[in-house]
Amino acid sequence: MLTLESLTAPAFRGFFENLGVGGVQISTDGRFLQVNRRFIELTGYPREELLQMRVGDLDHPDDREPDRERWDAFLTADAEYDVEKRYVRRDGSTIWVHVTAARIPMNGEQVTIAKTVEDVTERVLATHTLREREQRLREALAVKEEFLGMVSHELRTPLTVILGLANVVAKNGSSRAQVQRTVLEIRESAEHLASLLESMLVLARVGEEAPELEPILIDRVAHRAVDRHREVFPNRKISVKVRTSTPLVDGHEPWIAQVIANMLGNAEKYSPDNGRISVIVDREGTDVCVRVLDEGRGIAEEDMPHIFEAFYRAAHAVKDSGGLGLGLAVCKRLIDLQGGEVWAQAREAGGAEFGFSLPALDAED
Ligand code: ADP
Repeated sequence: MLTLESLTAPAFRGFFENLGVGGVQISTDGRFLQVNRRFIELTGYPREELLQMRVGDLDHPDDREPDRERWDAFLTADAEYDVEKRYVRRDGSTIWVHVTAARIPMNGEQVTIAKTVEDVTERVLATHTLREREQRLREALAVKEEFLGMVSHELRTPLTVILGLANVVAKNGSSRAQVQRTVLEIRESAEHLASLLESMLVLARVGEEAPELEPILIDRVAHRAVDRHREVFPNRKISVKVRTSTPLVDGHEPWIAQVIANMLGNAEKYSPDNGRISVIVDREGTDVCVRVLDEGRGIAEEDMPHIFEAFYRAAHAVKDSGGLGLGLAVCKRLIDLQGGEVWAQAREAGGAEFGFSLPALDAED
């Protein structure tokens, strides 16, 4: 008769104890009856503790429920048990194991169960890493495709305008005043095209270092950006307030100018004609902050986490205005490269605040 004793007979014990994989013998009610050396190594528990434990105690909490179902199916429906799951070791670390189970028939009704347990952590983690890489690659490809689709559309629009208008000017018969007007329109479209290209180039320069940073009087950059904005939008109520006496930062002037211009451009685009735009330069601790405030529609809660992502546009923006969703991503990239931070928040009184901070140069002197 095959008994527990025969399973623990010296010849079998030696073989079982020295198996290269973890081995356990379990009663049908789930208690460990025998555990071998490799299993002890795998789990980090001493033999005496394991013999007080039950099958499932080692399972990772997230794997417990699915495993209980498979185990019940194995016990009651004669299903195969061949699974990969996680064990939590005694020291709290997690390992991946490949576990198979087989019944050991005993005389009469009773059976015990033998399990082999193999540490497959390395393989599983390698597979996960591969899968994650594959997923990232797929996402990058999807982004690239989306990018190409949008880019070709966005670039073609001003290009078509430029070509059409140039053809008009090329034909004789236009008055001098007409030619002048058309040339101005051509210039506007060409500028739009140039700024689109510039945005794309900024975002395509992955991991690039900032050029040598220099002391920049940020209030001067803000004033210039606002002057430029006034030239293009003369009817807009717009003001600059400088609340710090030392608005000097370490930065790259053309980049700071571009960030302020992008934020002003958005304030213009996303607020009503009679709304006021304010630019505030202020000191906060060791930083100089620039805030662009508007009285527009503000930012919806659900848009907030995505607003600085490339290509992200709120639903209202897609519906009401043109744009690629690159302006704020460019701001973030340029400010990141200068060691600063960008933010966006809804204003209590309505409207949006977009801002950035850069480390002040002088600290306290
Ligand atoms: P674009 O303006 O081309 O859509 P941006 O990256 O500049 O791209 O802006 C991303 C999105 O952030 C916009 O589509 C818009 O939904 C939102 N947004 C940006 N600026 C403002 C603002 N001042 N007020 C409200 N929403 C804004």
